[in-house]
Amino acid sequence: MHRARKRFGQNFLQDGGIIHSIVTLIQPSDDMHVIEIGPGLGALTRPLLSNLDQLDLLEIDRDLVAYWNDQNLKGLKVIEGDALKFDFLEWAKQRSGRLGLCKVVGNLPYNISSPLLFHLVGAANEIDEQVFMLQAEVVERMVAPAGGSDFSRLSVMLQARYDMEQVLEVPPEAFDPQPRVNSAVVRMIPRQGFSLNSVQWHSLEKIVAAAFSQRRKMLRTNLRSFSDRLKLSEIELKSRAQDISVDRYIEWAKILAA
Ligand code: SAM
Repeated sequence: MHRARKRFGQNFLQDGGIIHSIVTLIQPSDDMHVIEIGPGLGALTRPLLSNLDQLDLLEIDRDLVAYWNDQNLKGLKVIEGDALKFDFLEWAKQRSGRLGLCKVVGNLPYNISSPLLFHLVGAANEIDEQVFMLQAEVVERMVAPAGGSDFSRLSVMLQARYDMEQVLEVPPEAFDPQPRVNSAVVRMIPRQGFSLNSVQWHSLEKIVAAAFSQRRKMLRTNLRSFSDRLKLSEIELKSRAQDISVDRYIEWAKILAA
């Protein structure tokens, strides 16, 4: 019997209806390449595998890795490792030339969700879709439109790279043990027209971090060191970081990197 480990953010899904909905959202099919981050005891893994020829699992907890190796299930490949260090780009590159979409899915450990989302951006060129369960509050920030108080650094950076949609809300009762927060499922599809090179992406990181460094201050203050080069309008100088659109941040990043 496995005891849930808090340090690995283990809250296991146990609601059959929710599990079915998440698997349906992932739309598994024979020729698809899927990697599941954190299979735990297999709430999603087993129904996914019954619709896939192959499924890769990435799990940090050695006991769970041993559990999955013991199961010896056809089509299942178990990788022991830390998702924050795993090379998703290489994983996808090895598969993307073949038939079938590449998807990264999982009920993520909430304690590492933001760094993991940023880590995955590096693989977005080769990934077709991500479907993740996360803390509801994080999903709200991810999909928040400009102008509201949820619009943050996470919103700009992820919306610059992905089209995202909250697709399901999940209450604590769906898990064992129950988390203290509400959860939500988000679908992330890398943006088709994404055109930033790595220097421009780095500029975007810099400008967005500076703009949101003091949320309540005007950009006149937060972007002081960039304002000459960016030629901010009078209205923009008086705006706050949350009032600027993702596309405008992208324009600024391109100017800065030029
Ligand atoms: N998928 C299962 C479910 O829905 O019931 C378990 C989800 S549980 C919220 C998170 C899972 O991620 C656990 O299996 C945990 O051991 C694993 N995990 C935690 N940190 C990890 C990391 N850094 N890399 C890979 N897996 C991790």
